[in-house]
Amino acid sequence: MSKSLRLVLGDQLSLTLPTLQDAPPGATVAFCEVDEEGRYVPHHPQKIAMMLAAMRHFAAELRQRGYRVHYSTLDDPDNRHSLIAEAERLAKRHGCDEIHVTRPGEWRLLKAMEARQAQDRTPRWCIVEDTRFFCSHRDFDAWMEGRTRPRMEDFYRMLRRRTGLLMDGNAPVGGQWNFDRDNRAPIDDAPSPPSPPRHRQDAVTQEVLALVEKRFADHVGRLEGFNWPVTRRQALADLRHFVARALPAFGTYQDAISDTAPYLFHSRLSAALNIGLLSPGEVCQAAQDAWQGGEAPLNAVEGFIRQILGWREYVRGIYWHRMPAYKRENQLGATRGLPRCYWDGDTDLRCLQRAIEMTHDNAYAHHIQRLMVTGNFALLCDVRPAALCDWYLAVYADACEWVELPNTLGMVLHADGGYLGSKPYCASGKYIDRMSDHCAQCRYDPRQSVGENACPFNALYWRFLERHADQLADNPRMRVIYGTLDKMSAHKRQALRQQADTFLDSLTWTPPYGQGQHASDYGE
Ligand SMILES: Cc1cc2nc3c(=O)[nH]c(=O)nc-3n(C[C@H](O)[C@H](O)[C@H](O)COP(=O)(O)OP(=O)(O)OC[C@H]3O[C@@H](n4cnc5c(N)ncnc54)[C@H](O)[C@@H]3O)c2cc1C
Ligand code: SF4
Repeated sequence: MSKSLRLVLGDQLSLTLPTLQDAPPGATVAFCEVDEEGRYVPHHPQKIAMMLAAMRHFAAELRQRGYRVHYSTLDDPDNRHSLIAEAERLAKRHGCDEIHVTRPGEWRLLKAMEARQAQDRTPRWCIVEDTRFFCSHRDFDAWMEGRTRPRMEDFYRMLRRRTGLLMDGNAPVGGQWNFDRDNRAPIDDAPSPPSPPRHRQDAVTQEVLALVEKRFADHVGRLEGFNWPVTRRQALADLRHFVARALPAFGTYQDAISDTAPYLFHSRLSAALNIGLLSPGEVCQAAQDAWQGGEAPLNAVEGFIRQILGWREYVRGIYWHRMPAYKRENQLGATRGLPRCYWDGDTDLRCLQRAIEMTHDNAYAHHIQRLMVTGNFALLCDVRPAALCDWYLAVYADACEWVELPNTLGMVLHADGGYLGSKPYCASGKYIDRMSDHCAQCRYDPRQSVGENACPFNALYWRFLERHADQLADNPRMRVIYGTLDKMSAHKRQALRQQADTFLDSLTWTPPYGQGQHASDYGE
């Protein structure tokens, strides 16, 4: 009779995990901390600490529930420091001829496991579907059939109908699928946002923080101020806090950006969701309950549920549907590396500086900072998808490739030619000025496009539109802006071009232009 090792990955910390649910009594459950996973991009120390502390707490919980647990720590002298090699070492050590694992969330790892599976050797690898999402791969592929230009909104409505979330029979509650029009208030009139609860750091968490501080001292990002949930109990406290204190204003200020408040009314739940401490179903249910109980308005609850039921499931579907070719897309032909300020924060563009500082301090920036500040800037500067993706994958506590890649490559950089989003989210300084309170504290002026004090986003924006007119001018959602460009005098266009080129020449780029592929590549 075969004996199986149950391998639990760092983003699979859920009691509902299929490989735990069907584990026979007495099966050994294995956790492996390995250097390779901590270093394939230079992950933010808070991200590494959150994952290791959460793994150690979850392993302890499984022990308490009677599982036999083997836990390989980073400083174990026998550790092979590669997930596959370490799992196989443990299987042999515990006399297991099979390794059962729930399908990993990253193409790179899945391919590595499938390669071992194909070799038909002992221990055999058995990979089972991850059932912790609303939509399975098979269902997503079925939904995609015959669609050349899939749209998130259609997918979202299909899932609303299927789950019954915010539905009144077959119709959306409130008579609308979407309340976006109510959700675009700028920062100016926002009330002061609540601070997230502070989590107690027990001996396990403190030990991990000390380990990460020593071992990953070369990674960018501050460990000080670490406040991520590392147990389900802490994650549930964050969920309760969000629903009671921030959800009511979530919708209205969803697109606002603040110079001082990193979280505004966002939930800060993505990391807990992505590593499995919370399930997307319970989070959406909690938001729906708040609306039904009259504690949060519909525009907020619908806006929030759309992010999880809609965007989160949709980008996951796209990732698996289009990989591995998706990772190679670069349809706007971007060639530059990343401006060095993304790593060292040294820039005098106030909005960019604050988004990067908050990222380094908290391993967090909210969606609009990622999309309209750091993302928009990289798009306008022709940053190669590989360079930007590696940065996003490294610096955020919630970063997992299945969600990061479609957001960065598709939504931000439009590198998939408009497959994920119907138009690029490019914007000038005027947009940032409208939505944030950064510009009043900036040395640049968002109303000027040329000259020493001109906001760099402005000239870069027009340069971008001009450079990509062949691909974008016919897009119905961009006709108005191209109409404005067409009416501009040749003289003004020339001045803008020169302004943008001079600015780009003044930046320091890292790594050098055109070098390399994704650091997180799997070499196919
Ligand atoms: C360039 C870029 C990279 C990103 N990389 C990641 C990533 O690696 N991991 C990640 O979880 N999210 C990523 N996102 C999506 C989004 O920015 C984060 O989920 C969100 O900022 C997390 O903060 P929050 O929990 O406070 O979110 P909230 O604003 O409170 O939203 C609620 C939840 O909805 C989900 N969500 C919201 N927007 C998206 C989206 N566009 N795609 C998928 N899920 C979404 C998240 O689970 C989030 O927790 C990225 C977005 C951009 C533009
Ligand atoms: S003026 Fe331009 S660079 Fe400065 S904060 Fe505003 S948008 Fe950013």
